[in-house]
Amino acid sequence: MLGDDTTTERRLRLLQAEFTQLEQRGPGDGRTATRTESPAPLNLAVIDRIRAAVYEVETHTRAAVPDAGPLPADAARVYDWARQHTADLEPQRQQARETLIYRQGLEHAIEMGDASVIRKHPCPGCGCWGLIWRPAAHRAACVNRYCVDHDGLSHTWPLKTLAHHHVARQFATKTSAT
Ligand SMILES: [Zn+2]
Repeated sequence: MLGDDTTTERRLRLLQAEFTQLEQRGPGDGRTATRTESPAPLNLAVIDRIRAAVYEVETHTRAAVPDAGPLPADAARVYDWARQHTADLEPQRQQARETLIYRQGLEHAIEMGDASVIRKHPCPGCGCWGLIWRPAAHRAACVNRYCVDHDGLSHTWPLKTLAHHHVARQFATKTSAT
């Protein structure tokens, strides 16, 4: 359906591979038994982030489909899991799900140090292409000197706003194409 269905999953896998080994030690993996070297140092903050992301998707899904069943053992499959169990819901709910997933994809990319994903979005205020990431504020700021608030400060946007506009455009395209 949507063009970049697997992006968020792929980014989550990269995060896992880069910062953690935990998620690969599920039952039946087979690697645990033969592992003799000491485990790589774990970035606990990233593990927490991943868990929080999975939990957010799970909560969002179960709110609509309480009997969605157990989560997949592979954390990165949570997005597929959410899509499978909500595929029959009305378009608004599917759009909300995709917005959540897309926003998490942006978060995963930024977590890995790739804030360039921000530049692929027009400013929700003025439509220009010139957003820059402000890590401290955790928001994208517009560089258009005329795109400012009453105090003359640049308009800034949280990731969820960028995700909302991006996915809304995708759904609008999809609807008009059918
Ligand atoms: Zn702007």
